[in-house]
Amino acid sequence: MKKAERALREKIVALCRQMNASGLNQGTSGNISARFEDKLLITPSGIPYEEMQPETIAALALEGEYGAFDGPKKPSSEWRFHLDIAKARPEVGGIVHTHSTFATVLAIARKEIPACHYMVTAFGGPDIRCAPYARFGSKELSEHAVAALDGRKGCLLANHGMIALGEDLDKAMWLAVELETLARQYYHALLIGGPVLLTEAEIAEAAEAMAGYGPAAQDAPEVSPPRPRRARRR
Ligand SMILES: [Zn+2]
Repeated sequence: MKKAERALREKIVALCRQMNASGLNQGTSGNISARFEDKLLITPSGIPYEEMQPETIAALALEGEYGAFDGPKKPSSEWRFHLDIAKARPEVGGIVHTHSTFATVLAIARKEIPACHYMVTAFGGPDIRCAPYARFGSKELSEHAVAALDGRKGCLLANHGMIALGEDLDKAMWLAVELETLARQYYHALLIGGPVLLTEAEIAEAAEAMAGYGPAAQDAPEVSPPRPRRARRR
């Protein structure tokens, strides 16, 4: 195995553990994938993150037979949307899927996130769409996810969770944390009478200023996304 591939596999394992330690994800419901040459490295199905090793990461073929993989364990049950997103979006190097609480609360209510905060522009547009419901692991869910992500780096999945994308894993994880933060903020704004939305012009201006914002692509070996804060009880 190439050194760079091993490093990427180690990073997937580290990010999975970090995702749970920070409270962004629970159990093994989340999954992470990263592009390496002609394959997509992806977390295996149903393995507790503490037991996961770089060798147990599955490698899906990006070309050739759909769903063909290498590895001792089957890829995550959500391998279809990981693979379809990687195929549809050649600029994407990392994909993070979680059932983080506030993103999932909005997804259960089937609410998209509107232009309630300028950070929405980090995802490529004035809103974060909510993909229609389809059974977990299904091709239909994958098609809905690819469509909801068109021109975007994040989406909600109805009655399920969320997906965040990046040019690399650091950026994808950064956006996963940002998406959960936005969802939490929007949820709370709804409780006090609803948000005042930004105008099209304000969003366009923010999007321009946002270009290039986020973790550096290469020089960030250790990712430490901020710990998602829990809502305080009243
Ligand atoms: Zn899921």
